[in-house]
Amino acid sequence: MAEYDYDLFVIGAGSGGVRAARVAAMSGAKVLVAEEHRVGGTCVIRGCVPKKFMVYASEYSKQFETARGYGWDIGETSFDWPRFLMSKDNEIARLSGIYVRNLQNAGAELAHGKARLIDRHTVEVEGHGRVTADKILVATGGRPWMPADLPGVEHAITSNEAFHLTELPKRIVIVGGGYIAVEFAGIFNGLGVDTTLVHRGPNVLRGFDDDVRAHVAGQMEERGIKIRLGAQIGKIEKTADGLVAACVDGHNLDADVVMFAVGREPYTQDLGLQAAGVALDEAGAIKVDDYSKTNVDNIWAVGDVTNRINLTPVAIREGHAFALTEFHKQPTRFDHEMVASAVFSQPPVGSVGLSEADARHQYGAKIDIYMANLRPMKETFYGGQVRCLMKLVVEQGTEKVLGCHVVAPDAPEIIQMAAIAIKMGVTKQQWDSTCAVHPTLAEELVTMRDKHMPPSLGQVA
Ligand code: NDP
Repeated sequence: MAEYDYDLFVIGAGSGGVRAARVAAMSGAKVLVAEEHRVGGTCVIRGCVPKKFMVYASEYSKQFETARGYGWDIGETSFDWPRFLMSKDNEIARLSGIYVRNLQNAGAELAHGKARLIDRHTVEVEGHGRVTADKILVATGGRPWMPADLPGVEHAITSNEAFHLTELPKRIVIVGGGYIAVEFAGIFNGLGVDTTLVHRGPNVLRGFDDDVRAHVAGQMEERGIKIRLGAQIGKIEKTADGLVAACVDGHNLDADVVMFAVGREPYTQDLGLQAAGVALDEAGAIKVDDYSKTNVDNIWAVGDVTNRINLTPVAIREGHAFALTEFHKQPTRFDHEMVASAVFSQPPVGSVGLSEADARHQYGAKIDIYMANLRPMKETFYGGQVRCLMKLVVEQGTEKVLGCHVVAPDAPEIIQMAAIAIKMGVTKQQWDSTCAVHPTLAEELVTMRDKHMPPSLGQVA
């Protein structure tokens, strides 16, 4: 008789939990996964994936304009929000189904219901009773938060609801300056919504390179997004005409929808973590070691609930590393260094490694900066105003490339490749020895010499 009902109990069927469960089950382990909502987690159900569909939908307004510049006659265009939502929901349902099938094919069981730890080996799943497990993995992710004490906050939404608005608003106020605020500002603006972004800081995208932040904000404004920096919402009121978001400085913003994108918090409520003795940090995230193990010997946690790097591919790698370590006898740690990320703003950002400010902080004056700010040939052809930014941060002496930052169409695709070289410790000489692919935008990255060199073709444009 086995001592426990399951070898592994996973709480949360998002990206990290599903990967861990599948890899563990492939070892022959008996695995049960509990999920209170739909299988797929934030990324598939109310995050990266539906967001990217919304970005695609919203980009067409600009593409129609570009097409005219290239000789196309395009009649009147219109956007059907309910039709888009239906297609989006169908696709999300299909993807969620694939996640379920992948779990089943690996031999893992799935229980729908909220799971709560009773003690370090016992979990109660709503509607399913109690089960015991040798090992437990918490992969419950994060949730958007809103300032609960803000008068009228009940009239506002978060990104969770933005995916299901029954009507496309005419005017939206988005609060925040991080990934979600910037991405949704681009989405709604592209869909024809009068969009205002209100951010408390001096510029959007804190943590990114300062030139990137300035470039993104400039391009957002160029596309018609109104950005109010150094501003805070003091209250939200419902009126006959919609909502009024009142800024603390006395400025009133009229809107149909006010959306808060002021960060996400680890989802640890009502999980019974205290009963099991699992320690949290000051931000409420589960504390883990390099192998994602908590302070309790048989409990691990991966993904956003640990608040390390809150990105889907990181959660997947953490879950995979946990399962290799614990079920395949291959001790594996995920390396959190040099993780590339993208912001799907318009144009988007791709970034890996140190910003100029962080590099100067770590290396003092021993930093070289290579930068290009250009209008790509696709834009110059018809007088379009999209400008791109490419920036390399290089350590003097070793010539090691410490950071690469791109704001350009396809920047997320470009940065994935650049990240391989940078993760391998590429030097600027090796980088430059790579011959350009012409004519592309990405070739700018390997043709950025020092400022004494004549400018490249793109820079001339
Ligand atoms: P972020 O942490 O990126 O940004 C939060 C924003 O809210 C910041 O601009 C912050 O300002 C502001 N803020 C925080 N508290 C307050 C407050 N009390 N009042 C006013 N403003 C406030 O959070 P997001 O919600 O945008 O995204 C959450 C996480 O999800 C991201 O960090 C990222 O890890 C992940 N994500 C990744 C995406 C991608 O990979 N493309 C897309 C979407 C999300 P300040 O800068 O001053 O602190």
